[in-house]
Amino acid sequence: MSDHTAVYPHLLAPLTLGRVRLRNRVLMGSMHTGLEDGRDLRPLAAFFRERAAGGVGLIVTGGIAPNIAGWAKPFAGTLATQAAAKRHQVVTRAVHEAGGHIAMQILHTGRYAYHPLAVAPTRLRSPISPFTPFELSARGVERQIRAFVRCALLAREAGYDGVEIMGSEGYFINQFISAATNHRQDAWGGDYIRRMRLPVEIVQRTREALGPDFIIIYRLSLIDLVPGGSRWDEVLTLGRAIAQAGASIINTGIGWHESRVPTIATSVPRAAFAWLTARLKQAFVQEGITTPLVASNRINTPEVAEGILAEGAADLVSMARPLLADADFVNKAAQGRAQDINTCIACNQACLDHVFQNRRASCLVNPRACHETELVIRPTSRPKRIAVVGAGPAGVTAATWAAERGHHVELFDRAWTIGGQLNMARRIPGKEEFDETLRYLSRRIQTTGVHLHLGRDIQPADVLDFDEVVVATGVQPRNPRIPGQDHPKVLSYLQVLRDDAPVGPRVAVIGAGGIGFDVAEFLSHHGPSSTLNRQAWQRQWGVGDPVQSPGGLAPEGPQNQTPAREVVLLQRREGKLGSGLGKTTGWIHRTALKIKRVQMISGVNYERIDDRGLLISHGPQREDLRWIECEHIVICAGQEPLRSLADALQEQGRTVHILGGARVARELDAKRAIDEAARWALSA
Ligand code: NAP
Ligand code: SF4
Repeated sequence: MSDHTAVYPHLLAPLTLGRVRLRNRVLMGSMHTGLEDGRDLRPLAAFFRERAAGGVGLIVTGGIAPNIAGWAKPFAGTLATQAAAKRHQVVTRAVHEAGGHIAMQILHTGRYAYHPLAVAPTRLRSPISPFTPFELSARGVERQIRAFVRCALLAREAGYDGVEIMGSEGYFINQFISAATNHRQDAWGGDYIRRMRLPVEIVQRTREALGPDFIIIYRLSLIDLVPGGSRWDEVLTLGRAIAQAGASIINTGIGWHESRVPTIATSVPRAAFAWLTARLKQAFVQEGITTPLVASNRINTPEVAEGILAEGAADLVSMARPLLADADFVNKAAQGRAQDINTCIACNQACLDHVFQNRRASCLVNPRACHETELVIRPTSRPKRIAVVGAGPAGVTAATWAAERGHHVELFDRAWTIGGQLNMARRIPGKEEFDETLRYLSRRIQTTGVHLHLGRDIQPADVLDFDEVVVATGVQPRNPRIPGQDHPKVLSYLQVLRDDAPVGPRVAVIGAGGIGFDVAEFLSHHGPSSTLNRQAWQRQWGVGDPVQSPGGLAPEGPQNQTPAREVVLLQRREGKLGSGLGKTTGWIHRTALKIKRVQMISGVNYERIDDRGLLISHGPQREDLRWIECEHIVICAGQEPLRSLADALQEQGRTVHILGGARVARELDAKRAIDEAARWALSA
């Protein structure tokens, strides 16, 4: 055993499953990337090849439908023919060549399907799809079971080492298990034993058809987080039956997609649900059931993963997004280089948000994710001297990627720290993960050999002898031109988040974009961040114990928090505040502010600011004049590019490359800044 396997001995321990020996306890959890749906699976193969080469023990693909009824959306990836199995061989070959193992997830979406051919146990529309499913006849149920088994057989033909049967997250199988979505009174509905018959039959018949050595993972919902969800004794009964039916591994599923409790967002505490896997593990140990269990959700560092395994809470850990963020996660941990891991910050901005918009997934902190065949880092044949001005996400990415290619790079910033706007994001309760990105960017500067100069206000004359100049100087706050905005009670978000300006007990926040929401959270939050305290977080979101309450929803519901201040958040546009925030996270930010009684007002005009506070009106006629009495008004009205240096250089006839917010401040976010900078560096 090397020194580093001694640091993560449980994580890096092999696991034998029949004739298969997994090299460690890391299971790459299933995640849809958009690469599954095309006919050409080579980009998907390249994506998984890098993760296998990066040391992952067992990869699970994104969900593949067993038939058309099971499609997530029209023409979603399906494995129902031998021709399709042949197409998948490029994927399995790539993983095996890189020394890994791979299972294919069989996903039948049931009433979550976004197409008119959806089927379900009962004709009930889900809140997240406009299509009402057809109710299956008993023969129809049989056909679905046979489709699962046929899909598993084809998966073996395609070279997969196993399949994962998706039984959680509110999909088809879960819909049979829950009384809320299964009103049948035949052999597939009624009491719990009949409702759980479907998954047990699927696992049993798959095992019979595939023999003892094929890996069958079953994803079991340990907490549904929806009204009428399973109780713990039911979960346990199903877990036992699934083990008995021949599953090789039981994976943890948390929450249905329609649940109103966040389960993977950045504000969810790390390993927030491992206690449920631990409880199942304990029951299994007591009963002598040896089926390995996988812990899942918000596990994003080797330390957290090792802790779960060392406590005996699980036998494997599932990580999906952390392996988008860093394909070499496992190798880096094994080599004692955990500080070099590009940590997933659970923002969802480039992965899930893209998938829900029918776009190919990527990763905010790693734009190469799912773009492995396009974004290839090759050494340059013409090393140049490059000056990069601005050490925010865009500047650091441009500098480090260019240096990695062999260029000589000098990176300047007028501040005394790198990271630009990330330094404000990290201060928001619930956004602690941004610290990891700052740590990673710092490490990258060191390891790629970029020469860093902080506290330097660069003038055009300073960059005369460089071959290329990159201006990534970021943004400055937009001037909203509100009468009275020079009043001493007016602060910019920079004064609040960067300079710790004192703020009174009543505050109006002008602007409800990403930063307005962040400022409202920062100012309304009282006490330590609940992201760092699982019990406090559970109380806040109404997560109870499935032993006491079905689905694990606390009977008292989410607990309002005593806010630190009275905060009013405003925008001029009519409609819901935060509609421009992430598709999968906007509702979480809105709910978090409601829990802290932040008042949200849209469709306002800002009339004037004076000693009383902020005077607003509504509509084009400027009606309903009303004072928001407050001690402070914080302006978060968006940004404008900061590019005086770029302008001065261009006036002198220099060619400059303007990246990130300095190029376009509108809707600036770190995702675009990093992606743009990486692509520039590959062309430099
Ligand atoms: P934003 O998302 O563009 O929002 C600007 C807000 O200001 C809008 O609510 C807009 O709403 C309002 N506004 C625009 N012009 C105005 C004017 N002249 N007078 C008054 N209000 C005006 O910008 P942001 O909030 O600055 O966020 C920028 C980006 O950074 C976002 O993409 C976000 O995802 C990202 N982000 C950054 C951080 C960070 O710490 N750096 C944190 C969170 C998010 P109305 O026009 O309707 O009034
Ligand atoms: Fe993680 Fe965000 Fe990257 Fe998704 S986009 S993998 S959540 S860092």
